[in-house]
Amino acid sequence: VTGLDATPNGTSGQRSASVRRSNLTTILTSLHLDGAASRSDLVARTGLTRGAIGVLVGELVDRGLVVEDPAVPDGNPGRPSPTARPHHADNVVLAMNVLVDSIAVAAVGLGGTMLAVERVERPRARRPLDETVGQLVALTDAVTASLRGSCTVHAVGVAVAGIVRGSDNMLITAPNLGQEPVGALIRDALGRDVPVEVANEGDLGALGESRRGIGREVTDLVYVSGEVGVGGGIISDGRRLTGPHGFAGEVGHVPVNPDGIPCNCGAVGCWETEVGEDALLRRAGRDPALGPAAIESMIVAAQRGDSDACSALDLHGRWIGIGLAGLVNVFTPSLVVLGGLFQRVHPFVAEAVDRELRARTLAPAHEGVTVAPSALGVDASLIGAAELAWEPVLGDPGALPFRRGALR
Ligand SMILES: [Zn+2]
Repeated sequence: VTGLDATPNGTSGQRSASVRRSNLTTILTSLHLDGAASRSDLVARTGLTRGAIGVLVGELVDRGLVVEDPAVPDGNPGRPSPTARPHHADNVVLAMNVLVDSIAVAAVGLGGTMLAVERVERPRARRPLDETVGQLVALTDAVTASLRGSCTVHAVGVAVAGIVRGSDNMLITAPNLGQEPVGALIRDALGRDVPVEVANEGDLGALGESRRGIGREVTDLVYVSGEVGVGGGIISDGRRLTGPHGFAGEVGHVPVNPDGIPCNCGAVGCWETEVGEDALLRRAGRDPALGPAAIESMIVAAQRGDSDACSALDLHGRWIGIGLAGLVNVFTPSLVVLGGLFQRVHPFVAEAVDRELRARTLAPAHEGVTVAPSALGVDASLIGAAELAWEPVLGDPGALPFRRGALR
């Protein structure tokens, strides 16, 4: 490819190749996250020259990643330019979500279009990993049956409720899975020669909300999601905070109550022992074993003004606020996103959460933060898993082969 005049004269071939790769990434990422764009739009979005954009978009078209719709005069002076958009029907990733209560698989097109999704609820129980992998394969077969023949599946992203080591996709602990090389198992079971990336569901919920949900306009957010345990993820300066081993963001195990109850992790008084589902049901005098159904009936009771349910929720909100105050002081996010159980109970706990935040956070941190329920709900980590899977494609679109039949 020639004609990439965005680089200064006299740079080495290596440097110019790296600038070209970075510019392809910039354009494809813009189309993926912000949608279709004319060349003038892309000039405004990226700061690249119109000429460079023409060449780069041409290359993305040749590689089958982008399609250009014909130019139509728009009443503005100058030549009308064609509109470039992600070729979502021919480029997909598989996103998988393995939660305690459900598993889901989706085919997500470039640009974020969810083309197909299959989800099954399942009873809480410890079960062998091969059973879960078998279910994922069955759901994948159902999801991919509707894809067209020309479609490329680029990668698989998997969100799991467990601690995942970033270097080798090893699942270290999970409430109902055990310790397993989950990425390799899924890749082998699918029989597809594609990368499989695995990460914690809280981290991917944060990524989903940041790229496609309520956090699109901010660079710093904390996502916390209640279920049986409490998961979370942190986006700092636009990036997922993973730590050197991939374990960062385990907000459920922040110690908050030295006089509290033992946690599954072996410690005492972790945040999830005070704000998880069991804690809420205990506070309301209900049997924790009854799970989500008992939570729903409790919410109905609170809506009717039942005082036991309301005071349990208020106390729950207080403990949510205590944990959030610590996170807000440490990370000074612009946004705290409440997912899962926290999203469900948000209307009943918002006041108590705000009270605790006001009392316990530094004034500048408190003034800068908004607390809001998740926009993506149960799909947050599934959408985040798709975004994880897209990262290598967006990172080096020029590494993909040219496709015969790609139309300019
Ligand atoms: Zn713990």
